Amino acid sequence: MTYNVIVIGGGLMGSSVAWQLANYGQKVLLIEQQDQIYVQGSSLGEARIARSLGPKGDLWAYLHDKSILETEKLIAFLNDSGTPVHQLSDIYTTSPVSYIFYDSKPKLGGFESVLNQRHKDCKYAFSNVESHNLFETNLPKNASVLIREFREYSGTMNPKKLIQKLHLGIQRKGGTILYNSKVESLIKTPACYEVKLLHSNTGETQTLFCTKVVSAAGCYNGILLKNIAPYIDKLIKPQRVFLAFFKIRASKFKKLPIDCKNRIMDAYPAIYFNKELSFAMIESIDKDGIPIIKIGGHFCRSIIKDFDTVWEQKLNKEEIEWGKSNTLQHLHDCKIPIESSDLEFIRGYSCVYSLTQTEIPIVSTLFDRDLNSYPGFVLMGGMSGVGAKGSLAYGLIASNLLLQKNELSEDYNNAVKKLGLNTTMINNI
Ligand SMILES: Cc1cc2nc3c(=O)[nH]c(=O)nc-3n(C[C@H](O)[C@H](O)[C@H](O)COP(=O)(O)OP(=O)(O)OC[C@H]3O[C@@H](n4cnc5c(N)ncnc54)[C@H](O)[C@@H]3O)c2cc1C
Repeated sequence: MTYNVIVIGGGLMGSSVAWQLANYGQKVLLIEQQDQIYVQGSSLGEARIARSLGPKGDLWAYLHDKSILETEKLIAFLNDSGTPVHQLSDIYTTSPVSYIFYDSKPKLGGFESVLNQRHKDCKYAFSNVESHNLFETNLPKNASVLIREFREYSGTMNPKKLIQKLHLGIQRKGGTILYNSKVESLIKTPACYEVKLLHSNTGETQTLFCTKVVSAAGCYNGILLKNIAPYIDKLIKPQRVFLAFFKIRASKFKKLPIDCKNRIMDAYPAIYFNKELSFAMIESIDKDGIPIIKIGGHFCRSIIKDFDTVWEQKLNKEEIEWGKSNTLQHLHDCKIPIESSDLEFIRGYSCVYSLTQTEIPIVSTLFDRDLNSYPGFVLMGGMSGVGAKGSLAYGLIASNLLLQKNELSEDYNNAVKKLGLNTTMINNI
C-alpha cells in the first residue's frame, strides 16, 4: 500500500476530495469505517436536491454549477478506457425544482432576493391563476409565490451513485480504499500525522504515518480532531433530522390518468420556505413504476444522544404524520385526486446534519491552539443539509488547499473565503 495522502471518511466529501487528489496524481488512501455498502452517514440515500437558483454571487449556486463541471471530468475519465458506460445522467436527474414562498416566510439569508431578479430558466406564479396556467397546480394555501426552475441537471442528484463512481475513479487512478477501517485516533507528531486504525473485520490495529491528511468524517469530525483541534467539537454541532418515505398505493396509482402522473413527476423536487423549511423529492421509482416520495424538514431537528445509534432511531408518530399530511397537501395542490388512505408510509430513518453556527460548511486548513495553521491538514465538515449538490466543488477546494494550488476565478476565491476558518471564529468560541 503506497500513499502520500490519507483521507478519513468515505461519504460524499471524503470521496470527492480523494478523487480530486488522485486526479492530481497523489497516491491516496481513503479510509471508511463502514463496509462498501453504506448503511448510515449523512450521504446515505439515492436523492438530494440539486439546484442552482440563487441571487447574484450565490455560494450554493456556484458550488452546484462547479460540481457539475467537475463531475463531467470524472465521467470523461471513467469512459476514457473503453465504451462510454458512465453518464452524468446516472447521477443527476433533470427535473423542475419548485420553490414555494409563504406570506410569513422565515429569514432566508438573502435568498429571497431571487424574487426581484427574474431568472431566464425560471417561471414565476404570483397567483393561483398564474400557477394554474403555468403549472396546472394550485398556489399552496398561504403561499405568495411558486417558482419553478428548469435547468439541465437541476432536479436531484444521487449520492450513492456518485460515491460509487468516485471510488471507481480513485481506484483506477491508483488510489486505495480501506472499508471496515475506523480511525481511532489522530495525533500530530513533530514530523507528520499519526493515524491509528482498527480493522473491524479482523479486529487488528494498525498505525499509519503521513504528512498530508484530510478529515471528512461527517458528524464524527469533532471526536476525531479532539487532540489536534478540540475547538471543532464546539464549532460543529451535529443534530438529528428525519426522512419519511411515502408512495401512492399501487391500486390507486395505476388508475391515475397520465396527466396526473406527469404532474407528480413535475411537482418534485420541492422546497417549501415554511417554518420547517421542508423539502421533498422523488427518491426512486419502485418496481411497479410508482414514485417513492421522500420528505423532511431542515428545521425538524433534535438533539443526538449517541452518534453510533442515532441512525437506528425510529420516527415517532408525529414525525410520520407531519410527513404524510405535508405530502398529501402537496399532491392535492398538484390536483392529484387521492385520499389520505391512498398514501402509504413505507419507511423512515434518522440522519444527521453537522451544523456550524452560520450553517455555512467548513472546508479549510486547520489551526492549532496557538492559532498557527497546521501544515498539510484540511477539514471538510459542517455540511448540514446543503453539501451534496456541491460535492466535487468542495472536493476540489479541499484538494487545492492541501496541495497549495489555486484557481484564478473570483467566484472560486470567494467560495474559498466563505468556507474557510478564521482566527476570529476560533477566538469567539
Ligand atoms: C436528511 C438530509 C437531507 C439532505 N438534503 C440535501 C439536499 O437536498 N441537497 C443537498 O445539496 N444536500 C443535502 N444534504 C446534505 C448532504 O447530504 C450532506 O451535506 C453530505 O452528505 C455530507 O457528507 P459528508 O461526507 O460530510 O458526511 P458523511 O456522509 O456522514 O460521511 C462521513 C463518513 O465518514 C465515515 N467516518 C466517520 N468517522 C470515521 C472514522 N473515525 N474512521 C473512518 N471513517 C469514519 C462515516 O462512516 C461516513 O461514511 C442532506 C443531508 C441530510 C442528512
